[in-house]
Amino acid sequence: MTDSKAAAAAPHSNFIRNLVAQDLADNKHQGKIHTRFPPEPNGYLHIGHAKSICLNFSIAAENNGHCNLRFDDTNPAKESVEFVESIKNDIKWLGFEWSGEVRFSSLYFDQLYNFAVELIEKDKAFVCSLNAEQMREYRGSLTEPGRSSPDRDRPIKENLDLFARMREGEFGDGELSLRAKIDMAAPNINLRDPVLYRIRHVHHHQTGDKWKIYPTYDYTHCICDAIENITHSLCTLEFEDHRPLYNWTLNSLDSAGLKRVSDLADSPDTYVLPEQTEFAKLKLNYTMMGKRNLKEMVETEVVSGWNDPRMPTLAGMRRRGFTAASIRNFCESVGVARSDSVVDMGMLEHTIREDLDANASRVMCVLKPLKITLTNISADEVVQLSMANHPKYEEKGRRNVPFTREVYIDRSDFEEVPPNGFKRLIPGGEVRLRGCYVIRCDEVIKDDSGEVTELRCSVDKNTLGNKPEGRKVKGVVHWVSASEGVEVTVRLYDRLFTVENPGSKEYEDYRSNLNPNSLVTLENCVIEPAALSSADESNFQFEREGYFCLDDIDSSASKKIFNRTITLRDSWSGK
Ligand code: ATP
Ligand code: MG
Repeated sequence: MTDSKAAAAAPHSNFIRNLVAQDLADNKHQGKIHTRFPPEPNGYLHIGHAKSICLNFSIAAENNGHCNLRFDDTNPAKESVEFVESIKNDIKWLGFEWSGEVRFSSLYFDQLYNFAVELIEKDKAFVCSLNAEQMREYRGSLTEPGRSSPDRDRPIKENLDLFARMREGEFGDGELSLRAKIDMAAPNINLRDPVLYRIRHVHHHQTGDKWKIYPTYDYTHCICDAIENITHSLCTLEFEDHRPLYNWTLNSLDSAGLKRVSDLADSPDTYVLPEQTEFAKLKLNYTMMGKRNLKEMVETEVVSGWNDPRMPTLAGMRRRGFTAASIRNFCESVGVARSDSVVDMGMLEHTIREDLDANASRVMCVLKPLKITLTNISADEVVQLSMANHPKYEEKGRRNVPFTREVYIDRSDFEEVPPNGFKRLIPGGEVRLRGCYVIRCDEVIKDDSGEVTELRCSVDKNTLGNKPEGRKVKGVVHWVSASEGVEVTVRLYDRLFTVENPGSKEYEDYRSNLNPNSLVTLENCVIEPAALSSADESNFQFEREGYFCLDDIDSSASKKIFNRTITLRDSWSGK
């Protein structure tokens, strides 16, 4: 949907926008703003990532800057090209364009290696032979300082030799590592001689089998930021304690060297290192985020895949019928703060309702069909009724809705023994077919088991566009022609979890919090033909039922599937 009528959320001021404005006022980076979005290609993007994407790309766009897409691909065992492609696709779908080519941390592996050699030469890094368990023991705790590795004073020459041989693949996984030489007594554990390189004989999706050693995230990220001239390195709060290491690494390297690799030929003298700033992650109730959790749900088939419409992934949400505009609006309206908070799912649902209310065409679809024969309409008659696609926006046009002798209404719109206040069809009663005639139920036909199988009704032919004479007919029901309508499958999706914090430790297993009704599949629904004839529209309001969208993955030519995006009204508040 391109012409989004729902008002785009206006940019709110937040501490990052303020910081960037201040840096521009101070001419800190020669008036340049350059951000990046650095996903690790180890899963599909989720709504939390969308917050970071919106922030990074809009900060750049608002300031005539640039935003890079850089895959943080330092952990090849868990990464794949499938994830790389899905991430690119999702960012484009969200409506953002990265600056220049897609980048990968692995593009810089040679430079990262050379910088590591520089650290060794400066006696700021050493090759350590402690294994993972020993390293944990030596590290100390929050209350106790760590102990130095027995290899900490290894001569520089020997370190250089061992590091080169690590690269050549002479040692097995985990046998040696390269560690920074910082301070084993530092209160911040990240500074207690952190690992910079690990030996891993693993095939890499970008570099193949070239590397037997891989740099750690902390070591890699800051240098890649510097190489790409990133001015503002925005990340989530869990990296706050890593900031001193970010700064240590960059400050330990020769800034002339960083300048050389970065594209600063135009102004090398005013080179300013990138700066890391942290903001709070998006957390959403009734949801589990985190790729680890999502991956597990996929692998254990709790859901049908990363793009299951109940998943908080962008691929799932797109398939569910969320529009890119609604997700951007949501991310803008949750704001950017430095303290953690949990956003109510109702807010996300409100944003998509608002967008679809303004933009989705209305159509009629009967989910649980009950046949009606209109006895005073001839069998071969097909009347094309013209109906507005949107009650408020005429420019959304009109469509033809075929009316015939046999139509379907929803089973729930007829009651033989009506409860109090029931305004729809009852034996002998009248109801208006939406945008069509008033009909009266003359006869109820049942099968042997007593189930109603058909209603025989008559049409008051004076009521097309007119009120019936001498009486009031309150009920209006949606309907679809039996002969002209198209049979479709409808999937009613709802929240995947029944509790606000499904992954919390108070529950033994998140699986016990799954909503058993998160997917109800209805076969044999009937939709008016116009809903399937529009090539460029896939989001609809099914009148009186909710918002639905055509599933472009499972639908076949012979049978289309519609997914419910969201009900018309919030049925969860107050539960
Ligand atoms: P996950 O735990 O879901 O795997 P991650 O942080 O490990 O998330 P990355 O691919 O490393 O995933 O993240 C890319 C960027 O997205 C990072 O800058 C990260 O801080 C940001 N990000 C991840 N989750 C959220 C979230 N819930 N809210 C905002 N930003 C997020
Ligand atoms: Mg991660």
